[in-house]
Amino acid sequence: MIKLTNIRKSFGKQEVLRGINLTVDKGDVVAILGPSGSGKTTLLRCVNFLEKPGEGQVTIGDFAVDCKHPGKRDILKLRRKTAMVFQHYNLFRHKTVLENVMEGLIIAQKVPKDEARARSLAVLDKVGLSEKIDAYPSQLSGGQQQRVGIARALALNPEVILFDEPTSALDPELVGEVLAVIRSIAREGVTMIIVTHEMTFAREVASQVVFMDGGVIVEQGEPEELFTRPKEERTRQFLKRIT
Ligand code: ADP
Repeated sequence: MIKLTNIRKSFGKQEVLRGINLTVDKGDVVAILGPSGSGKTTLLRCVNFLEKPGEGQVTIGDFAVDCKHPGKRDILKLRRKTAMVFQHYNLFRHKTVLENVMEGLIIAQKVPKDEARARSLAVLDKVGLSEKIDAYPSQLSGGQQQRVGIARALALNPEVILFDEPTSALDPELVGEVLAVIRSIAREGVTMIIVTHEMTFAREVASQVVFMDGGVIVEQGEPEELFTRPKEERTRQFLKRIT
């Protein structure tokens, strides 16, 4: 349902993505692993054109965008099919938890306020924050703030949720609660692409693991296979270093 075809991206003279091909099926949880600087975040941001790829094609469902000549409307349409969870949560500081979740529904999706409120309350319950709907982000722990970020993405009911290192800004003791929420929505069949350094989590939750290095996909497969029998030397070295 999501297809990236020959995605290339350069920053100045540095080519950061060098021809990425990736297919993600409905309900897949794809974990993208790889050393720092290998292009993981850039790839994720190319899916919704937060970074405009220099070349290639992004397809979500039956909607394809040619990266060389994307129209403004095409990009908006693509963005509406996705939602992103950021490393640093990116919440509105001056809005409450509930308002943060409602905002996208009202502004981007033009959902009537009552319905937006009901949908937001439902997803906030799912991430365990029913007690905090009137709190402001500054009154929450990092783990709670990230759960608001996840609720906000979930409320939009997108075709795919893109997670950009969702736990890497958190204190270690708060990582578990966020991973637990991601795990529970994965079980509901929500399609996700997750850039992460959490190997145990990737191994447990992902249906596909993608290992990137130097702007290319070096290897891809089911977690058990890739973690226990990596085919490529670069993958073996990476796994040896981090486990
Ligand atoms: P990863 O997520 O694997 O750590 P990134 O996608 O963040 O890798 O970065 C890949 C490379 O692209 C790095 O060398 C980084 O410095 C560079 N890069 C990323 N974003 C920008 C940007 N906006 N401008 C210039 N260079 C960038």
